[in-house]
Amino acid sequence: MQQCTFDVIATIQSPYKQKFAIPRQPGLVPEAKAQLIFAPEFNAEPFIRGIEEFSHLWLVFVFHETAGKGWSPMVRPPRLGGNQRKGVFATRATFRPNPIGLSVVQLEGVRCVNKQWQLDLAGIDLLDGTPILDIKPYLPYSDAIPDAQASFADSAPETGMTVSFSAEAERYCQSQNHQPELKLLIEKVLKQDPRPPYKKKQTGEQSYGMTLYNLNIQWKVTGDHHYVYAITPLGD
Ligand code: SAM
Repeated sequence: MQQCTFDVIATIQSPYKQKFAIPRQPGLVPEAKAQLIFAPEFNAEPFIRGIEEFSHLWLVFVFHETAGKGWSPMVRPPRLGGNQRKGVFATRATFRPNPIGLSVVQLEGVRCVNKQWQLDLAGIDLLDGTPILDIKPYLPYSDAIPDAQASFADSAPETGMTVSFSAEAERYCQSQNHQPELKLLIEKVLKQDPRPPYKKKQTGEQSYGMTLYNLNIQWKVTGDHHYVYAITPLGD
């Protein structure tokens, strides 16, 4: 079989520290901000000259967390409730022959901090530490196809889930001046309903936790409602 190798040009610093609860596509949670940090060989202004003139970028990346953990010719997309099978190339599954992902993200800024070039991004669906293989500008005249057919994923998922916070969790969010959008980030992540399909079918209260930034977020699900009851810094 023909093989190709690629250089990692950059790495993502993301609030998503674990796979669980990351939105299934970019743009669903605009408050999910990330930094793209260039690798030393690509850490120079000429590589990105003019990039700030584009509002959105394509990122080509490696599903590094699941790479090497196997794949199957057919997968069960969560959008179909986890019980219908589709060909891996008819889905955006992370487990694929080449563990390569593709996301369009918003470019919010370009900065050089202590001689390190970085791109500030929003609306990401990438795990912290994701290796980036390439960056390309998003071209609306060619990349946006409004009347395209998209089978089982023809619109953004609507879960109907609602979210509320305990007074303590609410206070914690308000005290985080350096993360002013923390509450919205949590709310929008939970509205995506990150639970696996089989859990969504279960009745009765369920408890969950996720890590965002350096925070442990704990919530309970009853029916179609998420209740965030605790936000605690890791290590506390
Ligand atoms: N937009 C991309 C695409 O279509 O190729 C990714 C879609 S994939 C369904 C999105 C999921 O990939 C996220 O919900 C998260 O669980 C997972 N993910 C994100 N970054 C990852 C990484 N570096 N390694 C493994 N899984 C990752």
